[in-house]
Amino acid sequence: MFRIENQFNVNFWGVRGSIPCPGSNTVRYGGNTPCVEMQVGGNHLVFDGGTGLHVLGQSMLKKMPASAHIFFTHSHWDHMQGFPFFSPGFVKGNHFFIYGAIAPDGSTVEQRLNDQMLHPNFPVPLQIMQADLDFCDVTPGESIKIDDIVVETAPLNHPGEAVGYRVNWRGGAATYITDTEHYADRMDENVLWLARNADVLIYDSTYTDEEYHSPNSPKIGWGHSTWQEAVKIAQAANVKNLVIFHHDPAHDDDFLDNVGRQAKEKFSGAMMAKEGMVIPVEVSAPLSREISVN
Ligand SMILES: [Zn+2]
Ligand SMILES: [Zn+2]
Repeated sequence: MFRIENQFNVNFWGVRGSIPCPGSNTVRYGGNTPCVEMQVGGNHLVFDGGTGLHVLGQSMLKKMPASAHIFFTHSHWDHMQGFPFFSPGFVKGNHFFIYGAIAPDGSTVEQRLNDQMLHPNFPVPLQIMQADLDFCDVTPGESIKIDDIVVETAPLNHPGEAVGYRVNWRGGAATYITDTEHYADRMDENVLWLARNADVLIYDSTYTDEEYHSPNSPKIGWGHSTWQEAVKIAQAANVKNLVIFHHDPAHDDDFLDNVGRQAKEKFSGAMMAKEGMVIPVEVSAPLSREISVN
């Protein structure tokens, strides 16, 4: 029996920014905080460990031993909170590679994940996790190679800093950019570079332009962008599919439906991130690997 490993899929496990928001008004788009999985050939790449990571972890328990490369954009709660509840991390025989940049205070991703689980904030420390955990410090701007996958990185514009990632494999590319704020006078060069000709661009679209510039409660300087900026970036960078991501917890399903309609009118490849959504990325290279599994 042969399994052909030439697939590149982007799976959405958590699409909400700031705080989980389950409830009857968010059920269609989902309430979990960021976690996006890319299945790239035989490798699993995971971006951020929001509460969506808990849900992904439950699905991984069915196929053990599990292995994945987990990339953190930064350490705000909504991107880390799922990690202490990532069940496969507690199981011996599983193996996870964990990536993140050094924070402005000099702490590594390992230290920050560790601190999050210290008493009295959490009952068990990181050391209880029985899986092999390999921590890797990311230098934004440098690339990471995993087999024949190249992950490019760049710094984003966010309080406390954040890293954007682009996954390149066999002619296909998917870019994960959250949390970031656009500039008033120009498009962010790092964002354009990561997004260039991507098949999938996932972009922080927390606000609408109206909310961002609201005279009563402006969101300028809060570290997030708008769906209108997402469309501009997608057009300028010539991306195929734009995914509106990191939904504001105040935006219910009907509000997000409306954003989706408006974004699609401006850019036909635009779509709203939804929990459970899967986007296949087309890979152009011929099949080069078949693995016998039985
Ligand atoms: Zn966030
Ligand atoms: Zn943040």
